[in-house]
Amino acid sequence: MKYFDTHIHFFPDTLAGKALPRLSGICKCPYFTDGTRGGTAAALAEWGCSGGMALHIATTAKQQTSVNNFAAESQHDSIRCFGSVFPYAENALEEMRRIKELGLYGIKLHPDYQEFFIGDDAALPIYAEAEKLGLPIAFHTGRDPYSPSLVHCPPDVLAKIADLFPNLTIIAAHMGGMDMPEAAAQYLAGKSNVYFDTAFASHFLTPGQLEELIRLHGVDRVLFATDCPWSTFPEEKALLEATGLKPAEKEQIACRNAESLFGISV
Ligand SMILES: [Zn+2]
Repeated sequence: MKYFDTHIHFFPDTLAGKALPRLSGICKCPYFTDGTRGGTAAALAEWGCSGGMALHIATTAKQQTSVNNFAAESQHDSIRCFGSVFPYAENALEEMRRIKELGLYGIKLHPDYQEFFIGDDAALPIYAEAEKLGLPIAFHTGRDPYSPSLVHCPPDVLAKIADLFPNLTIIAAHMGGMDMPEAAAQYLAGKSNVYFDTAFASHFLTPGQLEELIRLHGVDRVLFATDCPWSTFPEEKALLEATGLKPAEKEQIACRNAESLFGISV
């Protein structure tokens, strides 16, 4: 069975050596690649994963251009990328149009790193523009070790955004809420414009809990993901394989749903 990892991270070669240890120290998470594009692609290949979608994050307005240029340059062979905008940047909407032109696959928002709450009025035009451009938005959803006491993207608020923008495709990372599977089940499960990804799920869900949440939400709207370098392909693959889902359902999640959502062939 082929696997495509829809949620990976890497950095420009000149930054990776500093960025990974710094983030790892703040989040108290070990890391499993050297954080570069080349090192990540090599690790995926070694693990037997067909390819990955890198979700980049612009943490300041000034960073947007370089982050998205790096994303565009990184897209070849087994690697594809999302771009990012800083929600409070004056030119965020303009940059979203550039993301579309660059051929990136969507937009990643990480409200913890970008220091905004997803329900902020300032963020609403971003959602409207993404809906208009047909660009999916991947949200870091639920808790985050970066700011563990404050949830910037709670599943109930994300559910309201999904209702407010019915033609926006939302990817609610971490199965709809890291460390918050009950809220994900209560508020987000079953929403037709929401995908869940399995990134980092082996750290907070048992195979039984994962299967329950997948069944509740819908097998056709779950994307296999690891959150590499913060978790590994073997760990997250083992979690999906340990569920009681049928082989064809596992294959949908492993690669078929990503193929139809992104229009790619794995
Ligand atoms: Zn991530």
